[in-house]
Amino acid sequence: MALSRDIYEPLLRRLVLCRFSNIKQITGSVIAVQPTTDNWERLGSVSVQSGDVTTTYGAALVIDCSGRASSGYRWFKDTPVDTKQSDTPSGYLPYADLALSYDHKLGSATCEFIVPANFLETIGCPIDRSSSNLYVSIPDYKQDGRAIVIALREHNRLQISFGGYDIREKMTTVGDVRTFFSEMVLHEPLPEWVSNLLDEVEEKQYPPSIWTWRVPPSTYIQYHRAAKLPCNFIAIGDSVLTLNPVPGQGCTKACIEAVTLNSLLKSVREVDAIGNIVIPSGFSNKFFRSQLYRTGRLWDSNRASDYGYETVVPVKGDDHSFGKDQREFIHGKLLPMIITDDETSTIFWAVSAFLEAPTEMMFPSFLFKVWWNSTKARLFSS
Ligand SMILES: Cc1cc2nc3c(=O)[nH]c(=O)nc-3n(C[C@H](O)[C@H](O)[C@H](O)COP(=O)(O)OP(=O)(O)OC[C@H]3O[C@@H](n4cnc5c(N)ncnc54)[C@H](O)[C@@H]3O)c2cc1C
Repeated sequence: MALSRDIYEPLLRRLVLCRFSNIKQITGSVIAVQPTTDNWERLGSVSVQSGDVTTTYGAALVIDCSGRASSGYRWFKDTPVDTKQSDTPSGYLPYADLALSYDHKLGSATCEFIVPANFLETIGCPIDRSSSNLYVSIPDYKQDGRAIVIALREHNRLQISFGGYDIREKMTTVGDVRTFFSEMVLHEPLPEWVSNLLDEVEEKQYPPSIWTWRVPPSTYIQYHRAAKLPCNFIAIGDSVLTLNPVPGQGCTKACIEAVTLNSLLKSVREVDAIGNIVIPSGFSNKFFRSQLYRTGRLWDSNRASDYGYETVVPVKGDDHSFGKDQREFIHGKLLPMIITDDETSTIFWAVSAFLEAPTEMMFPSFLFKVWWNSTKARLFSS
């Protein structure tokens, strides 16, 4: 599903609220949580601020889904959950050390035009109704650290998005877009319809809306290494791990974690006197361990990929050599094959979209095929 952000979030919210009558939406910000006892083993309530009014609600399970704000991490500061070096058992980390961060210095710009319904026919672009992405080029650290996505979103919104490591290009006119395209180092030339597209929007003078932004650093809060968390606190999505947005994995990751939570909740048997589920002790640890197993690998794979670019500022204590072998394999051997071999590209896509386990790319037959392809390419190019 490819939708613009301003449609996607309300759509999800509406689908949930229409489908489940026992879910209510409260407008406001969660500003604090309260424990049931002084040792913070369990949370009992949350405080929600709406305008000038703060209301406290009882809570059986608290899920931090506050995105990049990572509000949950701050709620526990200066509480017994915030363990210091001296009171953190071995095998765990002091609370302040749970949060890691590196700055990929990614910049992005989107240029949007509202076009007529028959626009794709006019510019000679092949029509594939299964995806709203018309053209995608991702960065290759061996060639060019910039990316392009051209997409026709809902309501005939034609979007040309650019991203890149430490990009400084200004994007204010169609001429700037043309220059950006002409300077890109690509595996294959851009399709002819791309230049028709620029000619058409320029000739018809469709007014562009352009917005640019710097993507904040990637962060990872390693809750699975926390010594003391309330048993009924968990965190999902960007509030735990924010990724490089270019591969577009953040929403899928959040969905996978929701599915993980669902499976764990289904296994809870404890109920109170009136039959309501009681989150058992150890639930939080169990969830964060499952989360590490299901989606935690993305922290390493994103770092391995991003560290190929010299402008990236690594996590404190890391250096750019992290993930070198993985980069060599993916960019040197796998990417050239993805472009030419349907089976390889399907497996790579399925693993990236969490539809297959990463072990799919470790089967001897797969590795042999990749090795053979790169050896052939080397022999014939020399
Ligand atoms: C430029 C860019 C492009 C991207 N493109 C893609 C893409 O193509 N595909 C993809 O899968 N992912 C993409 N992502 C990543 C994706 O947007 C995120 O991974 C995803 O939105 C995470 O969902 P979330 O629910 O965890 O957090 P969010 O979507 O950030 O939602 C968090 C919500 O919590 C609210 N909130 C914050 N604090 C509080 C509080 N204290 N109390 C109550 N509410 C609070 C916020 O207002 C927000 O509504 C992109 C990200 C960026 C920056």
